[in-house]
Amino acid sequence: MAVGGGESGPVPGVVFEHEAKALLREAGVPVPRGVVITGPAPDFGAVGGLSEPVVLKAFGPGLVHKSDSGAVRLGLRLAEVADAAGRMREALAARGIAPSGFLVEEQAAAGVELIAGLVRDPGFGPVLLTGLGGVWAEALRDTALALCPVSEDDVRRMLGSLRGSALLHGYRGGAGVDVGAVVKLLMTLGGPGGLWERLELGEFEANPVIATPSGVVAVDARYLPS
Ligand code: ADP
Ligand code: MG
Repeated sequence: MAVGGGESGPVPGVVFEHEAKALLREAGVPVPRGVVITGPAPDFGAVGGLSEPVVLKAFGPGLVHKSDSGAVRLGLRLAEVADAAGRMREALAARGIAPSGFLVEEQAAAGVELIAGLVRDPGFGPVLLTGLGGVWAEALRDTALALCPVSEDDVRRMLGSLRGSALLHGYRGGAGVDVGAVVKLLMTLGGPGGLWERLELGEFEANPVIATPSGVVAVDARYLPS
């Protein structure tokens, strides 16, 4: 199945975060419960069914690294969302960015932030990537790669090869994360029949995936059609 492109977003070739997350959800990867709000006079009533705290994110064609543009607000109560969105829209307008809409989603509990992605090697084709994610991803560049389709052994080897792998198993008294859930997520992306087979020539990144002792949740996702 082809994904992305002009059918799924108002801007041809651009796939927004909630659309990339829908792909993950369909594939069985946990993502936060959320609602998408668009339109010139957005109605935030739909957020009522979410559990606090929530996260507010703007999306739009000019918004790639959302936090760098001030397009992510964490730790909001539901009653604060509409005001926060108004202020976010103004701050973005001052930077020349007009968001297409907002994603309001439940805030996941803190844990170890990982990156899980599918990249494309010009010679070898689809490659699964994992490593420490979130704020650590760029600072530490602690990642591992394997050609798709990967096996569970490949995935466990990848995780074991990370310099930060001790974080997964409980470091200095911290609880270890559910490594089985991390392995399952990586197999969903890069294993036999995984997402890599459906992405045609595009690339995919979930960053971060938050891993805790009770599972994983992908709180950001991006799909880049080729
Ligand atoms: P960016 O486009 O800047 O990568 P993200 O969606 O990754 O934006 O959000 C930035 C950071 O905010 C994430 O790295 C994560 O630490 C935190 N975050 C985002 N969404 C959630 C969420 N639903 N629950 C918990 N933390 C979140
Ligand atoms: Mg991110």
